[in-house]
Parts: sequence; structure tokens; C-alpha cells
Amino acid sequence: MSLAQYPVDVLSGVGPQRKQHLEELGISTIQDVLEYYPYRYIDYRVTDLGEAEHESQITVQGKVYQTPSFRWFKKNSSRLSARLDVDGIMVQVVWFNQHFLKDKLIPGKTIMVSGRFDRHKLEILAKRTFVSEAEQEKQAGRLEPVYSVNANVQINWLRKLIEEAYRRFGGEIGEILPSTLIEEYRLLPRATAMYYLHFPKGQQEGHQARRRMAYEELLLYEAKLLYLRRLQKTEIEGISHRFDHEKVEELVSQLDFPLTGAQRRVVDEILDDLQASPQMNRLLQGDVGSGKTVVAAIVLYANYLSGYQGALMVPTEILADQHAESLRAILRPLGLTIVSLTGNMRARERRDTLSQIQMGLADIVVGTHALIQEGVVYRQLGLVITDEQHRFGVKQRALLREKGSNPDVLFMTATPIPRTLAISVFGEMDISTIDEMPAGRQPIDTYWVKIDLFPRIVTFVEKECQTGHQAYVICPLIEESEKLDLQNAHDLYEQLTLELSPVRVGLLHGKMNPAEKEEVMRAFSENEIQVLVSTTVVEVGVNVPNATVMVIYDADRFGLAQLHQLRGRVGRGGGASTCVLVADPRSEQGNERMRVMTETTDGFEISRRDLEMRGPGDFLGVKQSGLPAFKVANLAEDLKIMEVARADAALIVNDPEFGSKPETKPIYDRLQAEGLNSKSFD
Ligand code: ADP
Ligand code: MG
Repeated sequence: MSLAQYPVDVLSGVGPQRKQHLEELGISTIQDVLEYYPYRYIDYRVTDLGEAEHESQITVQGKVYQTPSFRWFKKNSSRLSARLDVDGIMVQVVWFNQHFLKDKLIPGKTIMVSGRFDRHKLEILAKRTFVSEAEQEKQAGRLEPVYSVNANVQINWLRKLIEEAYRRFGGEIGEILPSTLIEEYRLLPRATAMYYLHFPKGQQEGHQARRRMAYEELLLYEAKLLYLRRLQKTEIEGISHRFDHEKVEELVSQLDFPLTGAQRRVVDEILDDLQASPQMNRLLQGDVGSGKTVVAAIVLYANYLSGYQGALMVPTEILADQHAESLRAILRPLGLTIVSLTGNMRARERRDTLSQIQMGLADIVVGTHALIQEGVVYRQLGLVITDEQHRFGVKQRALLREKGSNPDVLFMTATPIPRTLAISVFGEMDISTIDEMPAGRQPIDTYWVKIDLFPRIVTFVEKECQTGHQAYVICPLIEESEKLDLQNAHDLYEQLTLELSPVRVGLLHGKMNPAEKEEVMRAFSENEIQVLVSTTVVEVGVNVPNATVMVIYDADRFGLAQLHQLRGRVGRGGGASTCVLVADPRSEQGNERMRVMTETTDGFEISRRDLEMRGPGDFLGVKQSGLPAFKVANLAEDLKIMEVARADAALIVNDPEFGSKPETKPIYDRLQAEGLNSKSFD
């Protein structure tokens, strides 16, 4: 029996309630328990004081130098402090609310203390103290695993659970990598590596264990993508589009501008895919403002010429409206009918639109997720394009391809990542990259200012408006509460309306109904509104080239990808643009993001820095960027491993005997167990 077949409640103390709580952590089987790895360790190895960093967690062993001083304060609070002689260095150790230690700290006695080190004061704020020799012996050098838990699952309980799972099932952990690879890379056996991750021995073992499991994780991930890719290419019959190339070129020549070389190249790549019979599954990445929309318009036109309907899917309704407008401007003169379909349409309007789609009266449908919901029947869907793809996971990408009769699919993303990484992370797709900006773009000057500069920002915005330009002001983001977000937006809107008068200020937020949003966006794009105060609903894709100022409040609370997106709303026309990041220095990570933003406007560079800054286990922002969240592997550090894993996975997956050879069958089985076939895929 495989470990994935034992439900977690075979462990002691797991009843229906706890089972539920564990499920919230993604744990439902013994395999899940054993593969629930710690994201860091508390280090009880004795630190060399001379090298310990300020504010780091350290553990020291030393002699109590004199009788400690002790006092009570407030009610039930106490402070105990003593000097400790650590190999000749005198450090002050402070304990709060640990009065029970008072009588144990006898001068001359050797104790072990771990806590936070203040290098400047040579002081340790003690968290754990080990007084007896036996305890010190046991604890010294230990690394204690820290697991991510939630309000319902206590870490100590989880540790016990994992211990029990190991005791009872550890012996059944089997190898899944082929022995050739294990030998080639000198990898630890699977069971050993997993054991070391949960019950770490030392630095060396920990490193080896991590290396082994990171490789395995990436290999499985790559195998999954490549296998899916193979299924698509061999099992799915796509459409061979036939269209008149000259007509397409006519459209290109009628545009307001010549295509950039990069746009031209990716248009050709996509047109080739359209004509070929396998189902297209392509990612188009291009930095914010690189001109992806017109590429979409051109290839949608080719699709139309070959007799098929096309769909353009976007994450927000604002974007849907805007894209429908852009496509109409380009394609309506050529006789195409473009309709929008969004979630919040009135019943009647929706019915009409649906029948237009079904009868084939609509040539191109633009909309939100509503596009792929049941009840939408296409006449002949030949091409589906999604804009701002980074919001979809692998599963959604796969589902999309199953719509209609295997239409060609193009994903567009403005969160570009370095090509080698893109190939690994989006490996089930072909990749096109727009790596060139339209000519004449001016760089966006970016400033990081503190909140007390608000009056100067107001003056600056006012000046820009007087020269005929427009500005966005993005509101403080308060993740915990949508209500507060709204409040902030309202307050800021009112304040700016007053201070900027007679400049016309508008307000946009997610709680407005679609008609209201549409009206505000229309007014802004026609310069009836000059300053748009908004929550992050304008984040993706919005295009108002006359806007030259982007002010972002609480900028340090946004991830780099999002900041880059927001900033990308300006600098889209010929005018010089400015981005003002308003953030008081707060967290080191936040400050670092501000620095990156002021140093570069290159999306590829920003994504590289973003990856570098993410520590292991820090999955913040992963959703934003569309990058997968790994348990052990870390995209920033393990890129080399990922490339190797991809090459190995290709050999494994492309072997016709992949599923039957004893060496690779475990990998195959694992993919199957995850429901991997061309129809359902996670
Ligand atoms: P994104 O790639 O961020 O979606 P858009 O497609 O919205 O970018 O294009 C940004 C702006 O650049 C639009 O105003 C568009 O008309 C303009 N644009 C696109 N391609 C070119 C080009 N080759 N030359 C000049 N301007 C262009
Ligand atoms: Mg766009």
C-alpha cells in the first residue's frame, strides 16, 4: 500500500475535527504528513560570539559571573539579568517573566542560553535557558524544525504527529528517483533525506537533504509539465488555420505605428502556430507597455479570417471594457463584430450576448472568467487569448485549453521572467518574448518619498495637470480589511478634490458596480477626470497614454511585480513620466523593494531581483507572479538544479517506456496519482 493511501486519521489523536484542521494545511494522508517539511530551523548550536550578527538568534554557553539582579514590575512582570562570561567575553543576559530561574543562576555555574543578540549592547534577550548539564547536553547543537501552521494546529502537536508518522510509517518510504540519477548526483536516499529534514542532524546533512529533496521536487514538477506537453502534442488534434496572409499584412500596414522588431517576430511565431495542426499552447511575455494588445489584435484577425471565433480573457471588467474598445478601434473597420461578456451583466443583456456568440454573430468575445463558464456556447472557437496570464495556475491553464474543440491558446503576461526560468516554470508551453519597447518611450523617473512630503506631491500633481497631463493616485492598501481600503480611498479622494480644485478628481474602487466603473474609466481616458484616485483595481493592463504621474501610497506593502504593473500605467505615451512611491521606512524587505524600483524600470531585471530577495519558504507574492510555490526548492537559489532537473525529466518523460520501466515507474505513478492526464490536471 502506498503512503498516499493511509488517511491521516490512522495517527493517534486525529479525530474528525483535527482531520479537518490538517486538511487546511493540505495534509490528508500519511504521505502528506511525511512530506510536510519545515521551512526553517531554530539553531541551538553554540554560536561564536565574535561572529554573531546584530539581531540574530544565537545560542551561547557561558559561566554566570555574579549574582543576578532581579525585580518585579507592574503586576506579575519580572526582569532578571545576569552577566555571563562566554569564553572571556562578558555579555549581559536579560530574562523577562522567568523568575523561576532566579535561584538557579548561581555564580560560577555554566548555563546555555538562546535568544536574540544585541551586538551593540552586547546583550542577549533570552528565550530559552538550559541550566542542568543533562539538558545542555541534549539540546546543544540541535536544530529545531519550524513548520508553518495555522490557528488550529499547534506546532508542538504537529511535531509529535510527524514523529509518530515516522515511527510507524518511515520504513515504508520508498525511493522514487532512478538509481542512475541518485548515483550520478550522489543524492541521499529518499527516506534518509526526508528524515534529516524533519529531524536535522547538522549543517552538512541538512544541506544534503535539502539538495536531494529540491532536486526531486523540481524533477517531478518538470516531469509533470513535460508529460502534459507531450500529451498535448500527441493526443490533442488542434486546428490548422488557413487564412490570407496578405490581408493580415494589410492590417499591419494600416496601424498607427510600425511594429517593433520584437512584435513582428512574435506575431510570426504565433501565426505559424495557428497554421500548424497541433494545438497552440504559447506564452507571450513582454514587459509592461511593450505592446502586447496589438499583437493580440493581429492574430485574432488571422483567426477570424480562417473562419473561427476568437476570445480574449482578462482578469478585470475594466480591462475587458478597455480591450473591447482597443480591438474595435483596430478591427471594426475590417468588418469584425466584437462583444464583451462579464460576470455582472444584466440577465437580458447577457442572454442577448450569449445568443450572439452561439449564433456566430460575434467574431470576437472579450471578457472576464465569465468567458469560460458553463452556458457559454461558442460557434467555432479557434483561438483563446488570456491577458495578464500571471493570475492563472497550471490547472486553470489546462482547463482553458479544453474549451470548445481544442482552440489554440495564447497566454500573455506582463510579468516577464528570465528566459531560462520561463522555460522551466512554464515548461508545458512554447514561449515568445517581446524584449523591445516601442521607439520614443521616455524613462519613468521614480522617487521614493516619505509620507510627510504629501503637500509637495499635491503641488507636483497639480502642475502636471496644468500642462494637460493626468495622474493616478493609488490608495493605501490594507489587506486585512476591504472596508478600510474603501475608507482610505474615499478620504483621499475628498482631500484631493479640495486641495486640487479646480482640477477634476475621480474615484475608482472595487465595490463600485460595473457601470459606474466603466463610466469613471471612460471619463478618465477622455481626460474629463484628470486625477484618478483608485484602489488597485487599475493594477493590470489599463492604458491611458496621457497619464504621466503615478503616485502609490504605502508602496512598501506591495510586491515588486505589482509595483511594476502599477508603474506601468504611466510612461505609455510620448511624455516623460514620474512615479512617486510613498512609504515610510518600515521593513527591510519593503525598503529593498523601494530601492529596486528606483533603480530600474526593466521588468526582467525587477523579476530577477524579486526572486533573489525571496527567502526559502517565503511564498509571498507567488500568486502575484504566477510562479509555483515549492516546498523545498527555491526558485532564486535552485535555478541551476531546475535546469538540470528539466533536462533529466525530458529524458525520462520522452522514453516510450516511461510508464512501465521499473526505474521510472514510481515517477509515472506519482504523476498519475495527481490526476495527470490530458483532461484533468493540477
Ligand atoms: P502592454 O504590452 O502592456 O499590454 P499595450 O498593448 O497596452 O502594452 O501598449 C501600450 C501602448 O503602446 C499603447 O498605447 C499602444 O498603442 C502603444 N504601442 C504598441 N505597439 C507600439 C509600437 N510598435 N509603436 C508605438 N506604440 C505602440
Ligand atoms: Mg496589456
